[in-house]
Amino acid sequence: MWAQRIIRDDPAFFKKLEKQSLSYIWIGCPDNRVPANGIVCLLPGGLFVDRNVANLIRHADFNCPSVIQYALDILGVSNIIVCGHSGCGGEVKLQPREIIRLNR
Ligand SMILES: [Zn+2]
Repeated sequence: MWAQRIIRDDPAFFKKLEKQSLSYIWIGCPDNRVPANGIVCLLPGGLFVDRNVANLIRHADFNCPSVIQYALDILGVSNIIVCGHSGCGGEVKLQPREIIRLNR
């Protein structure tokens, strides 16, 4: 259904996605009320996304730095968006000593 709608609007859409070309990394919370592509008005293919609760970089997290390194070194992405949101349950639950925030 979704793919058919996309093809109806742009028959070459999925062909264009074969070559990964984008400008942004999105580091955000997986909260279902925060749709990354929708917020920045980009279709699939427009963002390289990493999500973790409360959009944090933690000492023990090897995934987020890997995402950033891959996006910068391999994909040539030049912009990083770190998106927090109001009412984030993860931010309330985590203890301050456990986190290092990028967006202070
Ligand atoms: Zn959140």
